[in-house]
Amino acid sequence: MEEYNIKSKVVGVDISNERTTYAIVDVRGNILAEDFFPTQDYPDVNNFVTAISEKIVMLVEANGGYETIRSIGVSCPSASSVSGCIENAANLPWKGIVPLAAMLRDRMGLAVALANDAHITALGEYTFGSAHGMKNFIILSLGVGIGSCFFSKGNEHCGHLGFAGEFGHTCIVDKGRKCGCGHEGCLEAYVGANGIIQTAHELMAESDAPSLMRNLEKLSPRTIAESCDQGDEMAIEVYRRTGYYLGLGVANYASIVDPEAIILTGGVSHAGKWLLDPLYDTFEAHVFGNLRGRVKILCSKLNDRERDVLGASALAWSVPEYSLFK
Ligand SMILES: [Zn+2]
Repeated sequence: MEEYNIKSKVVGVDISNERTTYAIVDVRGNILAEDFFPTQDYPDVNNFVTAISEKIVMLVEANGGYETIRSIGVSCPSASSVSGCIENAANLPWKGIVPLAAMLRDRMGLAVALANDAHITALGEYTFGSAHGMKNFIILSLGVGIGSCFFSKGNEHCGHLGFAGEFGHTCIVDKGRKCGCGHEGCLEAYVGANGIIQTAHELMAESDAPSLMRNLEKLSPRTIAESCDQGDEMAIEVYRRTGYYLGLGVANYASIVDPEAIILTGGVSHAGKWLLDPLYDTFEAHVFGNLRGRVKILCSKLNDRERDVLGASALAWSVPEYSLFK
């Protein structure tokens, strides 16, 4: 009997600025065991690799043993599936180019696949979520950053260097707001979490009109959406402007890609109709005519964190098994 027959599980890892989640996942996408730790506890990437390797081994030994694990899939911002490196991540403690896949493979003795978090989100939706059964679709991750990924004929488009889909850094306003990437007028500067908060501040400065937002302890996409739920006109206007910019961007994107659906994920998408209604109106007004009324715009039904661990596990199955002796 060949050895791989008993390797019925993989490890999915999701690294974000706040936390690193790791889970053992079986072939059917069941999460068998899961844990997490703060990413910021390890400002040195070598210590991070040592720590996560030890933690994975402990979890695996307590849940079926090392010999049942086939490979590891990792989701991370600014990661290239082509190079297996994290490259100049703006939102992680580790600067420069970090060959994380190779470091983890050498430490664990298992094959490791690494990909950009937006690509992993798409893989999770494709394998287990709203995009299941679709061949051509766009996934948008709406949070602090704006990521995207599109599938064509059932395959994810990674690009030449593995960085395809940087939708947040497409220009939406000439000489507009400054963006974290160094450019001006990027979509992310308007519809990313911080961009939405900036729009709220601008609206509050533009007039003396009363608004629940003026009394909020913490202004965030979520608290602004809650003000909308209470009928606050100024908060509704914040999302009207956000939806307008996002609708313009998505109309351009769809006109190039011709997707069956656009699926929204991430914290900002939880604003629901306050974002979706203006987004849809702007989209329909600007998308190429033959696509009008024919592109579905959906919100993900999966829990964001669970989906990304599952997406990373789906990626893990795509790499050949690793052995020092092959
Ligand atoms: Zn930018």
